[in-house]
Amino acid sequence: MRRKYGPFSSERFVADANMMVVHDLDNEKGECEIDFIDHEHIRTFSRDRLKTAEDQNYAHCAYCINAESYIKHSWYR
Ligand SMILES: [Zn+2]
Repeated sequence: MRRKYGPFSSERFVADANMMVVHDLDNEKGECEIDFIDHEHIRTFSRDRLKTAEDQNYAHCAYCINAESYIKHSWYR
């Protein structure tokens, strides 16, 4: 679920700079524990690109990054 407030800015791809993991909030799972990430560690990406997160060495969350995430990923190539 995307969050309109604070550092999330309604973005789909949101990373935890402490854990160095990027999440897909359109496919968020309980295991992502997004609400437990300190806001100072939240990162979003230019044009909401998963590729940008990868380029910054963020690992994919094992719970929420899936094939559907990659459909959007490919739109922006
Ligand atoms: Zn996740």
